[in-house]
Amino acid sequence: MSSLLTSVPAGVEIPGDRNRYAARAPFPQNPFVGFRDELVSPSCATARLFRRSALWWYGGRLDAGLHYATEAVDVECEEGHEFCRLAPYWRVALLTKSRDLDAGWRVVNALDGRREESDSPLVTATSLVIRGELLFAMGCVDDGLADVTEGLRIAEQCEARSLLPTGYVVMALAALRRADMRTCLTYVDKLTGEALLGYFGQAAGAWVTAQAAEARGGVDRASGLIAGIVTSHLVLRQLLVSEPAAASWLVRASRKLGADDLAEAAAAAASAASAAHPGFDVIRAAALHSAGLLEEDSGKLLEAANLYPDRWCGASAREDLAGLLAKRRSERSNTIRIFEAALVAYTAVGAARDASRVANKLRDFGVRRGVSRTVECAGELPHGLTNTEFAVAELVSQGHTNNEVGRQLFISRHTVAFHLKKVYQKMSLTSRVELAASWKAMQLRHGS
Ligand SMILES: [Zn+2]
Repeated sequence: MSSLLTSVPAGVEIPGDRNRYAARAPFPQNPFVGFRDELVSPSCATARLFRRSALWWYGGRLDAGLHYATEAVDVECEEGHEFCRLAPYWRVALLTKSRDLDAGWRVVNALDGRREESDSPLVTATSLVIRGELLFAMGCVDDGLADVTEGLRIAEQCEARSLLPTGYVVMALAALRRADMRTCLTYVDKLTGEALLGYFGQAAGAWVTAQAAEARGGVDRASGLIAGIVTSHLVLRQLLVSEPAAASWLVRASRKLGADDLAEAAAAAASAASAAHPGFDVIRAAALHSAGLLEEDSGKLLEAANLYPDRWCGASAREDLAGLLAKRRSERSNTIRIFEAALVAYTAVGAARDASRVANKLRDFGVRRGVSRTVECAGELPHGLTNTEFAVAELVSQGHTNNEVGRQLFISRHTVAFHLKKVYQKMSLTSRVELAASWKAMQLRHGS
């Protein structure tokens, strides 16, 4: 399994002694790697503005990227270039990155109304992947993943490589959050494959790969990637204006590694991104979140939690805030209340792995909360399983031992055994083998 994670996404330079992951390839120098040359070459005004927008974002400037994307869409291409048909979707992708979700949703709906029968597979695949990515950011996880899955199917068929990393990142991140490591590693593997072919155009792929490595084998396994991301200016700048959860994750992971220099560098870069992007709440929230972690400043963590437009990120800031308050005995009831708020939000966006971790922290305070789905989340879990039971059953059916499952879900192997017994009772089973068979049959029935 380690072979999946040993090659580094293109261009992530690994300094000196941290070079445990040997492969090195240049980070693509432009955002259009993976596009056919003739596709990106039109010289009309729309195409020129579109290319300018992509280059600005590529260099870490989401504000200028959005500005030129809007101009590209306003100037209508009269020559019918396929490339220019993609510009409005690129603008939606940037609105998603800036977590201007309402605006993104309005644009997507207007675009859906203008889709044509004659649209090429590339335009169809792009519309699906970009819409799915937006829905995922909005917390409509099931609908978002359905769109991305369909978009990726078409993109893989028509070899639209430029689109693949975006879709793979969403799929890997979603799988990681619901503790489905098998699916997560499938997509990390695909990302790595694109990287080896030189098509890996996005810093987000390096970050999601690092997260998977940490989930799989602890933060040490991710140390080379973390150092590579933080010390590469281009990768870090692009990541910080693409994935709002990245800055705080990098600070947290670097501190776990004992690499204070990396934690400080990540927080400083997040702060610089925020200064360059006044009016972008999500970037400011990410900077406050990482500074709050670094300085153990509860005020900054609270401000971040309230500012994030992204529900998962808000929950993450609350979890860190409660973790800080947990050290003060006088804050006991506050700590519990904030952990519970994080638990509800994680659960609502289907993040079983994160919900399980928080439920475990609440247990330390003598609070027992079954991690069950809230009514906001469409669809009941089969057999009346709680979210933790579902995650345990999923991982056990994939052949993991109780120890391994415990590490994934931040619970002891005894707690895993306890949940597994509940699963057996609810599903009328007696063994892991029966569970694996019946789980597989259930997935086939549900078509996933
Ligand atoms: Zn054009």
